[in-house]
Amino acid sequence: MTPGTPKLIDVLNCPNLPSLPAVAVQLLELTGDPNVNMKDIAKLVSTDQGMSSKVLKTVNSSYYGLSKPCGSIERALGFLGLNTVKSIVLGFSLVETTANAGDGFDLNGHWRRAIMGATGARAVAKQLRLSDADEVFTAALFQDMGMLASFMVLKEDYTNLIYSVPHRKLCAAEQEALGFDHTEVGEMLGKMWKLPTELCVAIRYHHSPDKADQKYAEMVRAVALGVLAADAMCPDAPKSAISRIERQAGDWFGTKNGLNVESLLEEIAESSKTLAKMFDQDIGEIPSALSLISKAQEQGLALQLSTQREAESLARESVTDGLTKIGNRKKFDAEMTAMFDHAVSSDSPLSVLFFDADKFKLVNDTYGHAAGDVVLVELASRATEVVSSDGIVCRYGGEEFIVILPGKGVVDAAMIAERLRYTIADKPFNTSSVEGVPDELPITVSIGVSGIDAGPADRLSNSGELVEEADKGVYAAKDAGRNNVQVWGRFTAAKSESTNQPSIAEPETAGKIPVSAAGDTMLLIEDDALAATLVMSLLKRSSTTKIEWVSTGDEAKQKIEQIAASGSNPYKSILCDLELPGKHGMEILKKAKSIAGLCDIPFLVLTADESSETKQTVEALGATGCISKSEFCKNLGVWVDRLAQWGAIARKKAA
Ligand code: GH3
Ligand code: MG
Ligand code: MG
Repeated sequence: MTPGTPKLIDVLNCPNLPSLPAVAVQLLELTGDPNVNMKDIAKLVSTDQGMSSKVLKTVNSSYYGLSKPCGSIERALGFLGLNTVKSIVLGFSLVETTANAGDGFDLNGHWRRAIMGATGARAVAKQLRLSDADEVFTAALFQDMGMLASFMVLKEDYTNLIYSVPHRKLCAAEQEALGFDHTEVGEMLGKMWKLPTELCVAIRYHHSPDKADQKYAEMVRAVALGVLAADAMCPDAPKSAISRIERQAGDWFGTKNGLNVESLLEEIAESSKTLAKMFDQDIGEIPSALSLISKAQEQGLALQLSTQREAESLARESVTDGLTKIGNRKKFDAEMTAMFDHAVSSDSPLSVLFFDADKFKLVNDTYGHAAGDVVLVELASRATEVVSSDGIVCRYGGEEFIVILPGKGVVDAAMIAERLRYTIADKPFNTSSVEGVPDELPITVSIGVSGIDAGPADRLSNSGELVEEADKGVYAAKDAGRNNVQVWGRFTAAKSESTNQPSIAEPETAGKIPVSAAGDTMLLIEDDALAATLVMSLLKRSSTTKIEWVSTGDEAKQKIEQIAASGSNPYKSILCDLELPGKHGMEILKKAKSIAGLCDIPFLVLTADESSETKQTVEALGATGCISKSEFCKNLGVWVDRLAQWGAIARKKAA
């Protein structure tokens, strides 16, 4: 409180304070007498013609729902009782008193609050069957009269204060600025006006019902609930306001209190309009209860959804690696355990790839941690793309990643591992976003593979052991020179063949046409036009290899003869998909291998027949490799890479 600020007593001593009309003052005096005579009351009210006509109009309005019209105050007293008539007289008296509050005070807003709060409080009292709904009504109507009184004395200083805070926080703001609040002013004024004690108590504690004397608790709480209900009539956030009423009613009157918020709002909407008309107050638009309830339901649903989303996003965050945005170790552990148990119980395959960036410390040491981070992010994204829907890629920790491949046997897993290795080693990583670092860095990984089917299944008692096997594979891959794949178990022997190195004996060097002079085109011998188109389009997507396609065995034979005659070989590799070991295929193979210079370039035979006899026959005839066409198409990058490697080996040997 700053010096010069009026004290509560100054306010109460101010001659500007509002006063009640004479009829109200006398009525309060009369009704204070326990032996009051109804006739005297009727006479008193009837002598004030203006008041009695307003009372009769109100009594006959829909708000009181009388079945027959009532023509005199005496009859009104008979029909509705003393308290109702008294509450109407006091209501009109208050209207009259406040009418000349003066400019600057939002009277409409004040009456909107008072009327909706009063109809709300009355409805609450009725629904909860509290002692006197009319008294609750009057108390709610008078609750904020301390504001009016404060305004009449403090004028602008007061309006500046009250319109800067929501009503809920008004008492605290008043206390801070003035050292007293409108509930205190209202109570004192009520005492000066000789309002009944319970009204004074309700006015005093309508912002803090729990502080009221127990004797008046029920009434004060009903007033406070009425105000909460009036707050819910604001179309902004009915959901939270409705929840507040329900919660508060539960706290004060027990959870089975029988309060029906929907009908409460309906009553407020209807009665407020009638009462505002009676009191001749413009309280603006009042939203319908239905629109509020449906909006509240929408808000409830939205809230539920957003809470759910928040929970989901928190759950997601806790299993996501912050840097790479793929699953973290926690995610891996949970998925791995579940998938292992499922694989064991359903007797289905499951494999794991463990990969570790090669010489990654060097990347950090040479180019800085930021570059290292960029590489880790790209490692995660390349791996995720290669693995696709076949499995889950997680960051195991540091520069180690792990892939779970449910439903994949170790052979399939090794293929995927090889594709992954190739995809990483094939193109340098883009580090252009990091300043002071080359735009591209070559990166490789070492991969260990293990699968439940890589050995007797009963060798594994838990998922951790499968992971350990894959981890051992990583060590083996590092030992083998990095940038390669190692498979645990019975495939270990075949590992380097099935992955890093050509699985077939390297071609022997021979012939007149030097291999190093081989051209840059791949010769595709494929009698199925559709398959040829497919292979070519796939190849174009994954490499820059030029392709020449011949569609029949005869054409292929001619080509090979041409090469033999010209002494120059335009091809760097031959990919042959003819019926094998059928007549044409065999013939071409023999022919190619008989021609010096052709026999040294990689000659890969695609076959639909995956039997080992076919493979052996084809390889015995000198093909560099024999694989199924589906495998070739599925892992095109790997095989193109391998053809190039074989070509390079042949050229090196020839040189
Ligand atoms: P090796 O080929 O044997 O795996 O060699 P390496 O250098 O990759 O292995 P080493 O375990 O010695 O080093 C791993 C490095 O990875 C050291 C560590 O600083 C780095 N590292 C781990 N986590 C992060 C990370 O989140 N960001 C960056 N930039 N570096 C990391
Ligand atoms: Mg490493
Ligand atoms: Mg490491």
